[in-house]
Amino acid sequence: MRETRSTCAYCGVGCGVIIESEGPRITGVRGDPDHPANFGRLCSKGASLHLTAQPEVLASRRLLQPQWREDRAQAWQASGWDEVQDRLVARLLALRAAHGPEALGFYVSGQLLTEDYHAFNKLARGLWGTPHIDSNSRLCMSSAVVGYKKALGADAPPCSYEDVERADCLFIAGSNTAWAHPVLFRRIEAAKAARPGLRIIVVDPRRTETAEFADLHLALRPGSDVALFQGLLHVMIWQGWIRADYIAAHTEGFEAVREAVRAMTPARAAQLCGLPEAQIIEAAQLFAQSPATLSLYCMGLNQSSAGTDKNQALIQLHLATGQIGRPGTGPFSLTGQPNAMGGREAGGMATLLPGHRDPASAVDRAEVARLWGVEQIPDRPGKTAVEMFEAAEAGEIKALWIACTDPAQSLPRQSLVRAALQRCELVVLQDAFTGSATAEFAHVLLPAATWGEKEGTVTNSERRISRVRAAVPPPGDARTDWQIVRDLARRLEPALRPGQPRLFDWNHPAEAWLEHRAATRGRDLDITGLSYAGLEVAPQQWPCPAGAAQGRARLYEDGRFATDSGRARFLPIAWRAPAEPLTVERPLQLSTGRLRDQWHSLSRSGTVPAAFASAPAPRLGLHPEELARHGLRQDELVAVESARGTLHVRVAADPQLGLRQAWLPMHWGSEYLLGRDEEGAAMHGVNSLSQDARCPDSAQPELKFAAIRLRRVELP
Ligand code: SF4
Repeated sequence: MRETRSTCAYCGVGCGVIIESEGPRITGVRGDPDHPANFGRLCSKGASLHLTAQPEVLASRRLLQPQWREDRAQAWQASGWDEVQDRLVARLLALRAAHGPEALGFYVSGQLLTEDYHAFNKLARGLWGTPHIDSNSRLCMSSAVVGYKKALGADAPPCSYEDVERADCLFIAGSNTAWAHPVLFRRIEAAKAARPGLRIIVVDPRRTETAEFADLHLALRPGSDVALFQGLLHVMIWQGWIRADYIAAHTEGFEAVREAVRAMTPARAAQLCGLPEAQIIEAAQLFAQSPATLSLYCMGLNQSSAGTDKNQALIQLHLATGQIGRPGTGPFSLTGQPNAMGGREAGGMATLLPGHRDPASAVDRAEVARLWGVEQIPDRPGKTAVEMFEAAEAGEIKALWIACTDPAQSLPRQSLVRAALQRCELVVLQDAFTGSATAEFAHVLLPAATWGEKEGTVTNSERRISRVRAAVPPPGDARTDWQIVRDLARRLEPALRPGQPRLFDWNHPAEAWLEHRAATRGRDLDITGLSYAGLEVAPQQWPCPAGAAQGRARLYEDGRFATDSGRARFLPIAWRAPAEPLTVERPLQLSTGRLRDQWHSLSRSGTVPAAFASAPAPRLGLHPEELARHGLRQDELVAVESARGTLHVRVAADPQLGLRQAWLPMHWGSEYLLGRDEEGAAMHGVNSLSQDARCPDSAQPELKFAAIRLRRVELP
């Protein structure tokens, strides 16, 4: 038996795993006791990873050969790599000749490795010349990115997981950590057991497993987070619980914020949030006066039309109270996907460039062009996720290259997304698994390697870069993502850069990583002190510049922030309601989220039968009183209607929810959740109902709030 150290393929905790294999077969997996994210622990998803790589899964669920069809009415034709790449190059060059480089968009994934991200970004912006590359991480943490940049000057979570063990108060907002980041939650449980004085506040409209564990649960009205944070700041200011010395020495803009929160009295915040005033005052005191307060936050803040404001307002609580830059303190955004952070670092998003550079900056663009050895890169940010599909639906983008994600199930406003895919002249889908909703619209399927089969790096929520390693070769003709991009790019180069040096002269992912590393030199995320060989020995946090003995666990310890002035920024914010109000016609708020044992659209976790034991099928959760008020019984079938369409699903009593709330898991697609859009076309999955209102700063869609109504479905 062989053992290979690697990293879990699922969430942003980034647990280390040891893969057990015999010959070409993965036989087991266990937690890596030496990995600082998990110290040997794994959750149910990580512990069953080996089951997703069994022969029956490889035979039935994996994409094993490149496939091609000229139009969607034709059957798929299996092809060799040479043939499919030649055809793809010819189609792409013809498209470019007819419509220009910006007719092609790339939509990639937070599950790609950093080397994959670098390859895609260099192909899109460096070789091909389109600014349109974005990631499904747009749906996950783009509000956190902008929040950090606006408040602290850089997209850099300033904390580490070890701060959980050093905090006296944990403020968990919009995060069901127990289900979405289970191993981190184990650390929270252990910290509470070791230090009973640790106080835990959970801010969540639902009484989740995480909220059950809290000392104080603020079950606020959905969407009222900014009002709560403003109310907390109001109390802190007028009770004298702020740190005036810290504010004066290390921040700017406080006076304007003091004025902005003047009217957000505890009474006003309590009214907007639907909370007792006493809870707001208690939370403010715990946050401000605990020796060390750490906040953990996730999709409940980010997936909102006010996502950046929510992040900014929470970070301001830390700045006002000096709860930052010390052990056990700081605003700590948790990433959903395993390498959302790496994608940010590599600049594989429409609004980012490598090394945390900005595509709107001419200086930053020139630096990236020089690093890549190209004359120039596109002179502006590209279209963000939903915008890219809007442009495709409008006929502006003619072709989409989609990797490791399923927009036909996961993006909001599904009728628009599906119309966009249908209108595209060319849809390339690069994926490891078969059967995604997007495959229905594809012309080309490119089989990709996945967990256990590929080499590279990922960065978890605490800025820790870990090696991902191959235990077995990819099945069939599948290839690693960076290789697929490199091979296509090499075929394009003679046409696009005749006679010039090769841009993709890599034979190992380490060569792509070295280019990525070079782009971080002198930046806030400088990793020039790291090497692939060193990462084999131990994962490391960034920054780790040349000469550093190890990466840094905590940022801003000297009180100097990454802004031009070195001071963190307070910005006045006005609370605003969610984009789609509840009405008499649609009186319920629908939120969506993750189950403990499942992942995204089930392509991987859905191959493990035990993952369905706790939830065999989706149910629309409603408070028992809400169920009774609608005259519904447990498991009864309802039509769930939003302004976008209708979905049929069974209901279940869920006492975690408040009145006028409904909750659906996000994982299931067409097998269970078939619906109709406003024009009667078939749609699939929970995002048939979701709205595409976006945060104006981050372009992150509001996936946690859609107004719905229910109608009982009478079965014949
Ligand atoms: Fe994998 Fe996340 Fe579970 Fe860790 S907590 S084993 S990274 S799914």
